[in-house]
Amino acid sequence: MRGQAPGGSVSAHLGDQPLVLDSQGRFFAAFDRDAAPVAALQARLADGTTIESPVSIQPRAWNIERVNLARNQGGPSEEFMRRRRPELAQINAARAVNANSDGWQQDFIWPVKGRISGRFGSQRIYAGVPGSYHSGIDIATGENGTAYVAPADGVVVLATQSAFSLEGYLLIIDHGMGLNSAFLHNSSLAVKQGDVVRQGQHIGNIGSTGSATGPHLHWSLKWQDTRLDPLLFTGPMG
Ligand SMILES: [Zn+2]
Repeated sequence: MRGQAPGGSVSAHLGDQPLVLDSQGRFFAAFDRDAAPVAALQARLADGTTIESPVSIQPRAWNIERVNLARNQGGPSEEFMRRRRPELAQINAARAVNANSDGWQQDFIWPVKGRISGRFGSQRIYAGVPGSYHSGIDIATGENGTAYVAPADGVVVLATQSAFSLEGYLLIIDHGMGLNSAFLHNSSLAVKQGDVVRQGQHIGNIGSTGSATGPHLHWSLKWQDTRLDPLLFTGPMG
């Protein structure tokens, strides 16, 4: 949700989570896939008074697949983790950047149109043990190298020089207010770290680098630590 805190607010929260208010008291807030059905927005005024507004959260149906197989036991190898740790460090450093951008206020557009080959929230349950859910949306155009564009204004906070083990060539764009987009499995990137990008600008090309079975764009959106469904930002592809 994008909102406006009451005039004179000095701070605001969604549940326990502090919200950032811009100079005009505007904020962005979101809740994740498995949030409780009721939350509260709270604003605090200079004299200490609080104003509370309840938010009811409509549950959605997720694509859950139960398989009769046990999940691979025994976690990642030390060899893999030696490669993975510096990649995670770069991802975490990029996500910690708070770029100055108004992209978060825009109506997002689809980076590219194609077949939706994976939906946000889909999850496999392996012999009763839930795997992690799919954290973004997958768009397949059937081709390697298809150009895609920025869904909203932002600043490039990560454009990897090499293919990461899982994400491949990875691009992360910060839209301001703690909201960022990640684009995975690129065949190549059209922008570099620090670039300011505009909605609709060509930023990368679809590929299958990293852990991917075929060329597709995995687009995920995160607000602080909360994973969000890009479909709620763009509406149906149409
Ligand atoms: Zn995906």
